[in-house]
Amino acid sequence: MAANNDQAPPTPCSPPKPHCLIIPYPAQGHINPMLQFSKRLIPRGVRITLVNTRFISKTVANSSSSSAAACSTTIHLATISDGFDEGGFAAAGSTDAYISTFERIGSQTLSQLITDLSETEYPATCVIYDPFIPWCLDVAKRFGLTAAAFFTQSCAVGSIYYHCHKGWLKPPVLEAQTLIPGLPPLEPKDMPSFIYVYGSYPAAFDMLLAQFDNIDKADWVLCNAIYELEQETADWLSKLWPMKTIGPTIPSMYLDQQLQDDKDYGFSIFKPDSKQCMDWLDNKPMGSVIYVSFGSMASLGPEQMEELSHGLKNSNHYFLWVVRASEEAKLPLNFDPSEKGLIVSWCPQLEVLNHCAVGCFVTHCGWNSTLEALSLGVPMVAMPQWTDQGTNAKYIEDVWKMGLRAEADQDGIVKREVVEKCLKEVMAGKKGQEMKRNAEQWKRVMKEAASEGGSSDRNINEFVDSLIHKKL
Ligand code: UDP
Repeated sequence: MAANNDQAPPTPCSPPKPHCLIIPYPAQGHINPMLQFSKRLIPRGVRITLVNTRFISKTVANSSSSSAAACSTTIHLATISDGFDEGGFAAAGSTDAYISTFERIGSQTLSQLITDLSETEYPATCVIYDPFIPWCLDVAKRFGLTAAAFFTQSCAVGSIYYHCHKGWLKPPVLEAQTLIPGLPPLEPKDMPSFIYVYGSYPAAFDMLLAQFDNIDKADWVLCNAIYELEQETADWLSKLWPMKTIGPTIPSMYLDQQLQDDKDYGFSIFKPDSKQCMDWLDNKPMGSVIYVSFGSMASLGPEQMEELSHGLKNSNHYFLWVVRASEEAKLPLNFDPSEKGLIVSWCPQLEVLNHCAVGCFVTHCGWNSTLEALSLGVPMVAMPQWTDQGTNAKYIEDVWKMGLRAEADQDGIVKREVVEKCLKEVMAGKKGQEMKRNAEQWKRVMKEAASEGGSSDRNINEFVDSLIHKKL
């Protein structure tokens, strides 16, 4: 991680150092990118306080204290309350209840945090907030602070939701093809799930559209995306707002290596079985292993678990499959992976994707997982489950051409034969070889964007300059 150069208090003549409060929505896939972005700001002279909910803060402290402690040496930690300090989201009973309570209690506790900091040597000057919790912008503005929205989804997905917010796209969208500026023609299954299975999660969908309610008041809109990957959409969005692409937010050692010792996210809600995974991979030939993970939230039904387990076995390749503890009971009773497979409850995904034994990633296409596979050059088999994952799958297959989408049947199940066929093609087929070449090319693009003088590096400089030269 970057050197800690922020201990000295400001001298009477020096301008106060910018101090950003980083406020992610409390989920692994939102904390990782915002934390990682913060690490890029510190060596540029910005003080960082990562603000988590009290529940997340306790969970992380209990599950992986070492990585949380590593973070706190350069990134200051603070908490606000979502109103559910003991149980988090699960204790709320419904998404609606969670979102409205978080807004009410979160606004109060964030205001209190900003007030408390204003009496210290390091008052907050900027709030970098997740637009899933748009009220953070209103609180920041009440205190006269700079407010930067930080999108943890692709530009394409942001643009689709914005079209819905404006009423230009009216769900359910069931037309064979939808045209949106800068995006490839989209079939319904390429849309975020809330749009073509309209009404599936109404509260979550409302939250996604509410991201844009007050966005016109944001001083900056930062997007964890890469200009070269979504050029036209990024250009279109930057005509609406002061939008900058700043991704990929993965640890520097896997990309540009500008930040020494930045090897992992350092804030894991789940505890990885690191040694077991890496020892197992170390004994496997190059490119011989299929890595399977559906991220931190997606939940497969028992039938899908069964189909997937057969597809993996029938592919006849080695596989490393992450099945979270909460999902384990859904594994088929007679399923014995011991000969060719290893099942773990969580793994150090970056290290795994970076391992030379891994030849393919079966993924739910969460945005972070997608960016990690792009950055590490691993071809994918896409099995999107919900939310923005269908759109990411479309880009993986048809735009970046570094994966195949395993198509679901009319009941939404990807059958074992489909899994097997996709795996064999990506691991050993002709198309797979082309994907591997494309993957290598995207890996270079990702690295260049993050390196000195690259598109994201320049955008981060511009953002920090504006914080440093802000007239107080
Ligand atoms: N991840 C991990 N170990 C695992 C599975 C996932 O470290 O066994 C990390 C992964 O590297 C990524 C995050 O968890 O950074 C998942 O984020 P993503 O956006 O892909 O999916 P989500 O969990 O939000 O659905």
